[in-house]
Amino acid sequence: MGNKKWYQLDEEEVVKEWKSDPVKGLTKKEAEKRLIRYGPNKLQEGEEISPLKLLLAQFQDFMVLVLLGATLISGLMGEYVDAIAIIAIVLINAILGFIQEYRAEQSLAALKELSAPQAMVIRDGEMMKIPASQVVPGDLVRLESGDRVAADLRLLDVQGVKMEESALTGESVPVEKVKATIPDEDLPLGDQGNMAFMGTLVVQGTGRGIVVATGMETEMGKIAGLLHHAEETKTPLQYRLEQMGKVLVWLAIALTILVMGLGIWNGNDPQEMFLTGVSLAVAAIPEGLPTIVTIVLALGVQRMLKKNAIVRKLPSVETLGCTTVICTDKTGTLTQNKMTVTKIFANGEEWSVSGSGYEPRGEFYLGNTKKDPSVIPSLKNFLEVGVLCNNATLYERKEGKGRTGDWSIHGDPTEGALLVLAAKAGIWKRDLENVWVKEWEIPFDSERKRMSVLFRNREGKRILVVKGAVEELLERSSSVILHDRILPFERVRKEEWLRKNEDMAREGLRVLAIAYKEMEEGRMEKGKGEEWEEGLTCLGLAGMIDPPREEVKDSIRISQQAGMKVVMITGDHRLTAEAIGKQLGILPENGLTVTESELYNMSDEEFGEKVEEIYVYARVSPSHKLKIVQALQAKGHVVAMTGDGVNDAPAIKAADIGISMGMSGTEVAKEASDLILTDDHFSSIEAAVEEGRGIYDNIRKFIRFLLASNVGEILVMLFAMMMALPTPLLPLQILWVNLVTDGLPALALGLDKPEGDMMKEPPRNPKENIFARGLGWKIISRGTLIGLSTLGAFLLALNQGATLLTAQTIAFSTLVMAQLIHVFDCRSDRSIFHRNPLENKALVAAVLSSILLLVGVIYWGPAQRIFDTVSLTYTDWLWILLFAAVPSFLSGVLHLFFVGVKKGRK
Ligand code: ATP
Repeated sequence: MGNKKWYQLDEEEVVKEWKSDPVKGLTKKEAEKRLIRYGPNKLQEGEEISPLKLLLAQFQDFMVLVLLGATLISGLMGEYVDAIAIIAIVLINAILGFIQEYRAEQSLAALKELSAPQAMVIRDGEMMKIPASQVVPGDLVRLESGDRVAADLRLLDVQGVKMEESALTGESVPVEKVKATIPDEDLPLGDQGNMAFMGTLVVQGTGRGIVVATGMETEMGKIAGLLHHAEETKTPLQYRLEQMGKVLVWLAIALTILVMGLGIWNGNDPQEMFLTGVSLAVAAIPEGLPTIVTIVLALGVQRMLKKNAIVRKLPSVETLGCTTVICTDKTGTLTQNKMTVTKIFANGEEWSVSGSGYEPRGEFYLGNTKKDPSVIPSLKNFLEVGVLCNNATLYERKEGKGRTGDWSIHGDPTEGALLVLAAKAGIWKRDLENVWVKEWEIPFDSERKRMSVLFRNREGKRILVVKGAVEELLERSSSVILHDRILPFERVRKEEWLRKNEDMAREGLRVLAIAYKEMEEGRMEKGKGEEWEEGLTCLGLAGMIDPPREEVKDSIRISQQAGMKVVMITGDHRLTAEAIGKQLGILPENGLTVTESELYNMSDEEFGEKVEEIYVYARVSPSHKLKIVQALQAKGHVVAMTGDGVNDAPAIKAADIGISMGMSGTEVAKEASDLILTDDHFSSIEAAVEEGRGIYDNIRKFIRFLLASNVGEILVMLFAMMMALPTPLLPLQILWVNLVTDGLPALALGLDKPEGDMMKEPPRNPKENIFARGLGWKIISRGTLIGLSTLGAFLLALNQGATLLTAQTIAFSTLVMAQLIHVFDCRSDRSIFHRNPLENKALVAAVLSSILLLVGVIYWGPAQRIFDTVSLTYTDWLWILLFAAVPSFLSGVLHLFFVGVKKGRK
């Protein structure tokens, strides 16, 4: 791509150089070719994890290495069978672990792809959103406020574009962009005013440019060299589990040394005891927990994806379940963002308009009389200005050559509604555009709450058209049109307009004022831009409905039942906001609504005192959202906050769960967020919280299962050694139980459905320990019971004169069966009797396969020789099942008893 100074070339030269088209862009075919030629538009990142590395990592664990060492020693001493079997078990375990971990990594990587940045390009004359990685040199790219520029561009067209280029130049003050050629030599990047560089940010305006460099050829690529994106993906829980794992390692080692010591003291063969000890340590150390957590999280985020929530940062999955306040935007998230103008106040009269959706068919009524507004000059004017001050387009979907009658819009629905309104009166944008040429524009933004465009006609007459929030426009207006005459906008008239505005807002309508101004040549000289927006003539008000989305009311109710407060933040009028808030059940009887100006006048303390009672924030611009997040957090809340624009980014970042909109959100908002809603829908937040709670619960379940199993294994050995009994479990058996039989059921537990209705419980305290709410006690008590009953079965067998091998096989089987029964107990926080064991099909299958493996090890000749097992009789099995059932059933019965006693006391 050379070192051309693109800023020195004019539009024609750049377009020629890249064989592109300044209106239609590249053809799709050409773009495909270029993608192959120039490669994807990506900065090189650090190495990816290779499957081989992941597989080798399975053997890197210290205790596994010790085990392999011990195996080698016993192999050298002639214990070939044991040695080979141990290696086989370690291999099976490693492969199982590898497959699961690899799949988890893959699905997390796929997720990353999904939330990768996007760019708007024009190809074959069609505007399309594509992954930024597929942008190629010569592409015509469209920029909008909130975009992160995807590649280096030479700008062809700018409408009030301001860019923040600190990522490249260190300068954080936004710079204004131009399209004209700059002749200077050797300009630093910051002064190349007609260029937009990869990674910089559009803070305002819209524009178009031709891509002149992609990927590592961009200015960003040149300075970045090789980027190492070591993004932290560990969640707080994984981190804590790792810490806890370290403590448990030492505990397990201490206990195994004790078992080994006691065994040797009792006269057991030291070599045998050594292998037993190492096997026990391998089995009992819960080093695999963080990995299973990753797997369960990965599976969970896949489920969330199905419910339209893309998780960008894994730790947020845990935080989701702790959310206590959801702050949500109104338009598009709670409502459909399908605006239809139903009321007009213009020319001093109130009109109503029929029709629904975007179909340009409907009637205008003055009172009950149908009238044609296009014959009333001031009304026509009002409708035309609404169409001119507008970046949306209205179109009918086509099927072949036929018309479908299915109308839709491109662009902002608020603006689309004004196009539809005018079209109902026979006024179309394309006709007006033949007369008026756009010269300058400040597009709508939520901070200014208005939009202005300057037009010129062939005769050289200029008009400024403005639309926006009613208060903003009234403040800047000096005259008004009444009965087809321009009159001064006196106080009384302004009050009347404000009253009309309130009447419409009270009905839940979103109200826009429309105004204009004829510009005189002389006045153009004075001031610029915003300064022109003074002395406007108000034409009228348009009130539009935006129906709530279906299911939103239910989702809000469910969220509230789940102990979360739902707060609505909107740029709309207080009364509109209150009407919608009440309709959706967000604003309770005694709940407060606060507007930005009230917020502005409140001290932090005052706000802090009130914040709990505020349910609706109206006329609030995005820059104030941060204040709201911080005030709620100061009260100890875990805050989820939605947003879509550039100015929402700080609040999204500061929130515990930052949520951005997949459809309407800007790239900047998405980058700042933890969660992207692919359908922009409030209900998806509620669904994500529910998933988040479920995932955390499942993690608790399998931690309980695995740790209780470990406790059981260690204790049965420890008790036996303390009682000077022969060893109840042989090393291979211990390894088999832990590495082979436990794995699948644990994973299936991770996929379990939540118990009961989790969304009727309050949110979890984020500081809560994973072992809280009785989990620690359950692990120790059930683990001890499993250890004791295994020992009981072993002792009984010995007492009844069974051979040691038979007694060991019985102990082995009892341990496995006790764990497999206990896995069903782990599904409930209450007891094994509280859930239908057949409900989780994956778990039933996993348990059956583990039983099958056990039967194989016991009855299959070759396996018997390896595992030193013997065939058991029916009576043996009866005893095994009885002992195995005791831990879970006994605790179940005790639970029922104590709950009964508690109820009785009440
Ligand atoms: P949220 O999406 O956060 O709920 P909102 O959509 O309710 O916000 P904004 O889009 O910031 O709020 O709109 C605030 C006000 O600005 C509206 O009440 C309306 O009067 C005005 N407005 C909205 N869209 C436009 C537009 N395209 N052009 C001019 N004015 C607009």
